[in-house]
Amino acid sequence: MTQQQTTGGDVRLTGISKTYGSFTAVHPLDLTVPQGSFFALLGASGCGKTTTLRMIAGLEEATTGTVSLGGRDITALPPHRRPVNTVFQSYALFPHLDVTENVAFGLRRRGVTPVKKRVAEMLDLVQLGDFARRRPHQLSGGQQQRVAVARALINHPQVLLLDEPLGALDLSLRRRMQLELKRIQTEVGITFVHVTHDQEEAMTMADTVAVMNGGRVEQLGAPAELYENPRTTFVANFLGTSNLIEAEIVSAGTDVVVSVGGGTLRLPAGRCPAPAPPGGRLLVGVRPEKISLDPAADADPGDGRNRVTGRITEAGFLGVSTQYLVESPAGKALQVYEQNTGHRRSLAPGSEVVLHWDPAHTFALDAAQDME
Ligand code: ATP
Repeated sequence: MTQQQTTGGDVRLTGISKTYGSFTAVHPLDLTVPQGSFFALLGASGCGKTTTLRMIAGLEEATTGTVSLGGRDITALPPHRRPVNTVFQSYALFPHLDVTENVAFGLRRRGVTPVKKRVAEMLDLVQLGDFARRRPHQLSGGQQQRVAVARALINHPQVLLLDEPLGALDLSLRRRMQLELKRIQTEVGITFVHVTHDQEEAMTMADTVAVMNGGRVEQLGAPAELYENPRTTFVANFLGTSNLIEAEIVSAGTDVVVSVGGGTLRLPAGRCPAPAPPGGRLLVGVRPEKISLDPAADADPGDGRNRVTGRITEAGFLGVSTQYLVESPAGKALQVYEQNTGHRRSLAPGSEVVLHWDPAHTFALDAAQDME
């Protein structure tokens, strides 16, 4: 199984929902997971991501809607008849069996042969060939996790579901395993649906991320697209840090011009919620690392960049970068992350500064929007 799989098809959820009594854990949801993609369901605890995953697995019965795989409706199939497999955070390895037998378990149960060759291939895939005879308690957390992945993949599922599989690992191992899982997914080409509350994890691994909040998908897209162009305040704040500035629309054309405390800003019309009538209110956003800081100067260099003035209130040296908090007529505590290059400079608290950034790095949200 070290070559790409081509079986399966898209996973399609149509109007799928889950209620427990009067509580709706997942509101009717339409979602397509393209075949062969690494798809992440991302959100805070309780947002409904595990319930959604369990409905794909068949471990939870959907209240409404259907689940299909490659055009085939699998809603009524019990979990073991679905061509999917799940890896849980707890690994659920058999403690009395060694690595080989843990991985071989699914094959033996179904009477599939040859066992030895397939297990060896799987152990190669997860780079555990040297650990074949160890029991789970003789392995590190990351190694146990890889055994669980090998065991779940050996039956060639069309879809692998991963429920916070790295949750029990410490940060550095977690980072390594993120890259490792991504490598395995690319190698086998199977669709992975990965549940996590960790935005960095979702962004590192997934081709597509669905950001969930309160039982709904708020936004779905490629990681960079979600980061660069969030459509809701929840997404803007959940994926990294955002400066959100209250603004009023002055004019709208190819660029939209807005007024903020202390001046005007410009942004591409495509990054504004439509419609954008003059007088309308927006929240204008810019990521802290997109902003440059300069000591205050009188002249506007006319370079077309967005500019606001401010005064540094806090400066924190973080090694690779320096983090500033800036008080400005545009916003109380604007955050700026400046990369530390060879020439360290000190912009001390109290310094008057100009904040400037490329209008293309500006996004806007409907000030009135708020998901239920
Ligand atoms: P976490 O990251 O904490 O696992 P999650 O986003 O995966 O959270 P779910 O496990 O899908 O969230 O749960 C969604 C909501 O449904 C939660 O509010 C949870 O309390 C509720 N819920 C889940 N299972 C049940 C159940 N069997 N009965 C009642 N409510 C439930």
